[in-house]
Amino acid sequence: FPAGGVSVAPHKQRGPTHAAQSLLNKLIRSNLVNTTNQVEVLQRDPTSPLYSVKSFEELRLKPQLLQGVYAMGFNRPSKIQETALPMMLAEPPQNLIAQSQSGTGKTAAFVLAMLSHVDPENKWPQCLCVSPTYELALQTGKVIEQMGKFYPEVQLVYAIRGNKLERGTKLQEQIVIGTPGTVLDWCQKLKFIDPRKIKVFVLDEADVMIATQGHQDQSIRIQRMLPKTCQMLLFSATFEDTVWNFAKRIVPDPNIIKLKREEETLDTIKQYYVICNSKEEKFQALCNIYGAITIAQAMIFCHTRKTAGWLAGELSREGHQVALLSGEMQVEQRAAVIERFRDGKEKVLVTTNVCARGIDVEQVSVVINFDLPVDKDGNPDNETYLHRIGRTGRFGKRGLAINMVDSRFSMNILNHIEEHFNKKIEKLDTDDLDEIE
Ligand code: ADP
Repeated sequence: FPAGGVSVAPHKQRGPTHAAQSLLNKLIRSNLVNTTNQVEVLQRDPTSPLYSVKSFEELRLKPQLLQGVYAMGFNRPSKIQETALPMMLAEPPQNLIAQSQSGTGKTAAFVLAMLSHVDPENKWPQCLCVSPTYELALQTGKVIEQMGKFYPEVQLVYAIRGNKLERGTKLQEQIVIGTPGTVLDWCQKLKFIDPRKIKVFVLDEADVMIATQGHQDQSIRIQRMLPKTCQMLLFSATFEDTVWNFAKRIVPDPNIIKLKREEETLDTIKQYYVICNSKEEKFQALCNIYGAITIAQAMIFCHTRKTAGWLAGELSREGHQVALLSGEMQVEQRAAVIERFRDGKEKVLVTTNVCARGIDVEQVSVVINFDLPVDKDGNPDNETYLHRIGRTGRFGKRGLAINMVDSRFSMNILNHIEEHFNKKIEKLDTDDLDEIE
């Protein structure tokens, strides 16, 4: 398999699920997401030259930071970092709104900017980073610690509920990372932070942020306390109008960088369907397929938790190494299951539609829709179908998708999907499987 990662796409769900998805993403991501797309740049001052860098050396970082970057295994800037870093490190500082899918190097970029701008001699907060949840703040904090490993004078503190400081405390740490409510309290009510001394303000995961009640207002209130000279940076994985409107309120005179996500296509996928009459027959068909072709790794999607559990049990009884991804699992547990699967420790991953929403495992060559994807009203869910089996650009390998049809209803759904994508889904006779090899 290629060293492809697991990536979680932005999706339409909102609120805590959105934050959980984002966290899951970070937990399972071990390298950059590949992309062939070019960044789009909109400069605040279109007449000024646009710098982009192909190496970290060109950025003239402090030696301790360059060492930190290399110790993390980064050889060169990612696509978005090529343009974002020179902008963020420019003198005078420039404001930036950047959008690109998760895994493209945004966090690493703003962490480097924060670390570059602090003056370790000054024992007060100079960089402020707000994240939507405690867990996400911790993940960013870990990156700060890793990248700042050789720069121990720079200290970090978490402004999160539960971190109770004594009244009258004046923070000495140069970087504060936290959730909007606590950060606001620390700036305003408790005065642990003097907001007028902040040089860099980062708002991370803006799309997740606005999905949480209250976070938008709190963020705006924090922003208003900061000096005019403070550098404002905002990041988001997706960019709907709501995010955009929020971004413009947070970041005055922004430079804007966008990186489109790689389009998914069904072009390199052979699609089949199998007719069955019950879930037992579907299971039998699955066994026949396994008996006929070599399947390195497969992902199997079921509609309900119950079916997924049942199927996982049946498959283990047949001697398969099965991983089960289920809705009641904690984010960390889910990440662990996906990671084991990605590392090849299990060969089959059985999952429910809801649970695996947005997850794509690039190295999987076979995807089986044990149940076809439908939305909550029972209509064909084309988007999910595409995301499950589609491959992105030239990184995609050839793949095989098998759809189990067990009623007139599901046949109808399949027909709709076929029509929607205008790509033939061929019938497969599981008693005679010569054709799919
Ligand atoms: P995002 O914030 O856009 O989700 P991250 O900054 O978390 O992206 O980066 C995604 C993954 O890629 C992380 O594992 C990170 O360590 C790694 N990464 C980031 N920048 C680079 C780089 N320039 N070279 C190699 N790996 C990188």
